[in-house]
Amino acid sequence: MAAEVLAQGGARVTVFDTMPSAGRKFLMAGRGGLNLTHSEPLPQFMARYREAAPRLQATIEEFPPDALRAWSEALGEPTFVGTSGRVFPKAFKASPLLRAWLRRLDAAGVQFAFRHRWSGWDGDGRLLFQTADGASAVAACATVLALGGASWPRLGSDGSWVDILAAKGVAVARLRPANSGFRVAWSDVFRDRFEGQPLKGVALTIGAHTVRGEAMITRSGIEGGAIYALSAELREAVLDLGQARLMVALRPDLDAAALTTRLSGTRGKQSLANFLRKAAQLSPVGIGLMQEAAIASGRPLASFSPAELAQLINAIPVQLTGVAPIDRAISTAGGIRFDELDEHFMLRKLPGVFAAGEMLDWEAPTGGYLLQASFATGAAAGRDVLQWLAGATPSLRA
Ligand SMILES: Cc1cc2nc3c(=O)[nH]c(=O)nc-3n(C[C@H](O)[C@H](O)[C@H](O)COP(=O)(O)OP(=O)(O)OC[C@H]3O[C@@H](n4cnc5c(N)ncnc54)[C@H](O)[C@@H]3O)c2cc1C
Repeated sequence: MAAEVLAQGGARVTVFDTMPSAGRKFLMAGRGGLNLTHSEPLPQFMARYREAAPRLQATIEEFPPDALRAWSEALGEPTFVGTSGRVFPKAFKASPLLRAWLRRLDAAGVQFAFRHRWSGWDGDGRLLFQTADGASAVAACATVLALGGASWPRLGSDGSWVDILAAKGVAVARLRPANSGFRVAWSDVFRDRFEGQPLKGVALTIGAHTVRGEAMITRSGIEGGAIYALSAELREAVLDLGQARLMVALRPDLDAAALTTRLSGTRGKQSLANFLRKAAQLSPVGIGLMQEAAIASGRPLASFSPAELAQLINAIPVQLTGVAPIDRAISTAGGIRFDELDEHFMLRKLPGVFAAGEMLDWEAPTGGYLLQASFATGAAAGRDVLQWLAGATPSLRA
């Protein structure tokens, strides 16, 4: 986005990327329909960026969700608002949008240099790249770093920029997985039977934070939308204490009294699982989760009274023992600290070097907030570079 704004402003722009083609992670995001942004009111929207919200507020106000939707539409990809309020292109994928965007950048004169891995600066301040033909050095009037986080490194962003910037004295908050899964030591029986199965319509709680939605049982733990929405709280608890206790409510709309009444009927010859399934409309995976908790508590589920079962249904403890590796996380927390940037996204310690996107120290849940902030900060960095070039050295504008 910075390249587009710069080219429109008359700058000569080259995009260097370590990958053989553009937008690998953008295309991957497209596999889930490309959730570009979200339609909720801006105050609610901004709250998703947590502590970083004040640092992003003006930038997102200047390039808000409606601007991103208009941008997509102008590229021939109109958007729609899904039932959850999330915004997607009607094509529900990234490739047509990316193709149209690359055509427009090409028409604006933006050059692309692929298979160029940036590795820092030489003694004369030129950008250094590793290429198949060896090292190359490029002099630039200004540089926008938009190197992403460290999740899904095979798509290009591997966080190798951290050491380069740290060597220049730039403070970087440690890169950590965001919107990631967590490890759980499931029993073999539970893992083999329920791997890949969703827990639907559940409420998940850690501390004072509760989220409704869906979670997925994986071989090594648990992931999915509701887990991602809590991933910052869960991650910090796991990293601080080595583990975290997630509470799962299978029937969050029914209180304990209503559930107890349902479970006080006669069971007859039904198995406990069948009884729970019919009386409380629980899924087999939900009942399996209750069994796991009962085993951990040292008491068979069959010995629970109706009131105890009712209690457990909406407060199943699941012990998280680790965070899934960052290379499988959807995004990255941490990055260049905002204090290292001036109000124009320029690194205070490196005049002429700007930064944008996921490599900055913000995080947000899934829902379109990641792309929105990446686009908005990219657009801002582009505008700021134009301004800086105009003010600093007008003769270098070309
Ligand atoms: C599976 C998946 C699904 C997602 N779905 C969504 C979604 O639906 N909605 C949403 O909002 N977000 C989604 N995201 C997150 C979103 O894709 C990212 O937040 C966004 O792409 C970040 O943009 P960026 O430009 O900052 O970084 P990136 O898109 O990661 O781009 C950084 C670029 O820098 C290049 N690079 C890195 N290091 C170097 C180097 N040393 N030299 C040269 N080039 C380098 C990389 O090759 C890459 O092309 C998803 C992510 C994943 C992994």
